[in-house]
Parts: sequence; structure tokens; C-alpha cells
Amino acid sequence: MSGAQVLILGSGTPNAEADRVSSGLAIAVDGRPYLVDCGHGVVQRVVQARTHGLISWDTTDLDRLFLTHLHADHTVGLPDLLYTPWIHGRETPVDAFGPAGLERMLAHIQLAYAENIREHLSAHPCSELGYQAQAHELGAGFRYRDQRIEVQALPANHGDLDAFSYKFATPAGTVVVSGDTKPTPDFADWARGCDLLIHEVYSARQLPDRPPAWRAYHSRVHTSTRELAALANEIRPGRLLLYHQLFWGLTPGELVAEISSDYAGEVLSSSDLDVFEL
Ligand SMILES: [Zn+2]
Ligand SMILES: [Zn+2]
Repeated sequence: MSGAQVLILGSGTPNAEADRVSSGLAIAVDGRPYLVDCGHGVVQRVVQARTHGLISWDTTDLDRLFLTHLHADHTVGLPDLLYTPWIHGRETPVDAFGPAGLERMLAHIQLAYAENIREHLSAHPCSELGYQAQAHELGAGFRYRDQRIEVQALPANHGDLDAFSYKFATPAGTVVVSGDTKPTPDFADWARGCDLLIHEVYSARQLPDRPPAWRAYHSRVHTSTRELAALANEIRPGRLLLYHQLFWGLTPGELVAEISSDYAGEVLSSSDLDVFEL
């Protein structure tokens, strides 16, 4: 499959839901996936996408990961990512890019699964490298580049932990992924004119019904429909795609309508296993 394609693996949040797993998506360029975040169920979603003929690549191709932050709904699938594709035949280590604390997290996962690793290496025909991960903690001016893609990161504002948004420049277009964040002063300039803006969101209309402590938390570290409409008016993306949606009882259409009342561009609310061609 040539060109570039975005596959939503998990559109969800920490709130477990019947039809959404937590956060993860893949940007594939010429059939090579770049994974963004790794919540629960992400590897299973890749298997489903493969089974349904949505993608040309497989779990064994998952060896580049960009983490927006280390909250569990974005990282709890990491052991699955390290060990399941390994059994499927992956022979390369995972290059994992992300915030401070990533190296320690990965080291502790390997320690937790030491018995699994030891037994597989001695009794299974598994690669010596396919379960390993190389952590790359992001510093100022981070830039990743290979022959297919260029990736930049922008510090996000998600409260008291390191967090990033990512911009993926592919030959077919540019994708910006917000991660979890409150709007930051630099984001609109940084994301301006992207082809696909994938952004987290909560319902401004439903916020007043939330308990006061949660209302304060969400206002402080996430982005409301109203704030996102204002951002989209500055950024003017080709398409705006909602993920990590906090619906709080609204339908996807109602959530989109909250944004569309202040923003005239195309807005879509993503579901797990949605595919978007660039
Ligand atoms: Zn989250
Ligand atoms: Zn978060």
C-alpha cells in the first residue's frame, strides 16, 4: 500500500468502554507504521485491522513508537507491544521516543517480564532483539527523520508530567497529533496548515454537569470543544479529527456540532479502526 494512511487503533480514554480501547494510532508511510501511544488493546486492534484487510503491514512491523506522555491510558499496552509481536516474529528492537521517565518505565517492564523473556529465549525460536526497546527521551529541538517521515515534537500542557504533541511530515501530507493537552500558546503556529489535525477534546456543553474537582481538572489539562474550535480557526487544518473524546453522554454528532457551531471546516469524530488516507 503506497502513500500514507492513519489508522485509529484506540480512540478512547482512561474510562473503559465497550467499543473503544484506550489511546493509540498508527501513521503508515509506504506500508511502514509509526505508532503513537500504546494504550490497552492496541496490538489486538492491529490484528483486527490486518484481519479485516485495512492495512498491509503487521504487528511485526511495530518497531517505532512515539509516546505523548506516560499516563496509563497511553502506555499500559507496552508489555503487549514488546512481547506479542516478538512471538509473532519481530526481529528488531522497538525504538521508543517519549518524555522523561520513559527509559525507567521500559527498564521496569523488562524486569517485570524477566521470567517470560528468559524462557522464550531458551525454549522458543525467538529473536534475541525482537523484545528489546531502546528509549529515547525527548529533549529540546527533538527531530526524528528517516527516508519516509520527519517527526517533530512540541511540549504540551497536561499538568504535572512531561507531555508532547507530535507533527509527522510525510510525502503525502502532514499529520499533527495533539496528545493530551490544554491549548498552549505555541500550538496553533506550530500546527498551522497541517493536512490532518488529530486532537483530543471534551464537551464544553457537558462540563458544568461534572463534579467540581473533575471540572477543575479537565479545564486545567484538556481541551474543550470551544477551545478546539478556536484553535482550528487559527490552524485551518485540511481535516480535524477528534480522538480521546470525552463525550459525557453526547453522541459523536452532538460533539462535532459543538465545534462546528464555531468552526466551518471539516470535523470528524473518530472510532477505533477508522482509516484515513492522506
Ligand atoms: Zn489520556
Ligand atoms: Zn493523559
